[in-house]
Amino acid sequence: MPEGDTIHSAARRVGGALVGQEIVSIETPHPRHRGDRWPAKLSGREVRAVDARGKHLFVRFEGDLTLHSHLRMTGKWGVYPRGARWGRSPRRAWLVIRTPTHEVVEFDGPVLELMTEGRTRFDQRITGLGTDILAEDFSEAAYLRRLREDDPTRGIGDALLDQRNVAGFGNVWKAEGCFLAGIDPWREVAGVSDEEALEIVRLSRPLMQLSVERGGRITTWEPERPRSARKFQTWVYKRDGQPCRRCETLIRSRGQGDDNRTTYWCPGCQR
Ligand SMILES: [Zn+2]
Repeated sequence: MPEGDTIHSAARRVGGALVGQEIVSIETPHPRHRGDRWPAKLSGREVRAVDARGKHLFVRFEGDLTLHSHLRMTGKWGVYPRGARWGRSPRRAWLVIRTPTHEVVEFDGPVLELMTEGRTRFDQRITGLGTDILAEDFSEAAYLRRLREDDPTRGIGDALLDQRNVAGFGNVWKAEGCFLAGIDPWREVAGVSDEEALEIVRLSRPLMQLSVERGGRITTWEPERPRSARKFQTWVYKRDGQPCRRCETLIRSRGQGDDNRTTYWCPGCQR
C-alpha cells in the first residue's frame, strides 16, 4: 500500500513534469470516467501546483479546478518521457496527462475526481485528516490531541494507521516506527505515554523525509555493506520468522485492527 512518503514523492515528480508546462492532452480511458468531460473542462488550463496531504494527491489547475486522487491499496502514479514504455499496462490507466515532453499516468486509481478548490477545503475525507507527518507544519500537539480522543483500548499500531490521528503512516512505517521507538504495536493507546507516542513520530519522520528525497524508496535499516539492487531494507516489516537485526529474537507477525492489517514486531525489543 502506498505510504505518505510514496505519495509526497509522487507529487514532486508529477509536479516537476506538469507545473507551468503546456498541457497537450488529458485523457480518461477508464469507462467510469467516460462521461466526465474532463478533457473539455480542463483544456487550455495550466497546472498551478501538485501537492500531497497524507495519502491524497492534488493536481491543481488554473481557474479553481483540482484533480483529487487517492491510490488506496493498488494505485500508482507514473511519470514517463514521451514515448517511453509505461510501468503498467495501458489498460490500467485511469488518467493520462501529456505535455510536449512527458506523460503523467495514474494507474488503478480507485479515487479520482475533479472538484473545485472550495470543495477540497470542505470535503470531510480531506478536512478530517490528521496532521501530516511529512508536512512542514506537522504538529505534535495536534497528533497527541487526536490520539487521546481516540479509543484508549485500541492498539497503538492500529491507531497510527488511522489517518484521522496522523496522516501519512502506512503499514510499513507503522511497523518500523513502533520498532524504532521500542513500543509493542499491540500496547493499548492508554498505556502509551505522550513521550512514547512522540518518539514514534520523531524517529519515523526524518526517515520518511529521506525516503521522499530518494523517490519513495523506503530504507529504515542501512546494511553495513549495501547491495546495489536492494529494494528496501527494514527492521521488522515482512521479516517475520527471521532473527531481529538488533537482538536476534524471531520477528513475529499478526493481523491487527478492524482491517486486519498485518503488523510485525520484535518481542525482544518492543515492550
Ligand atoms: Zn529485537
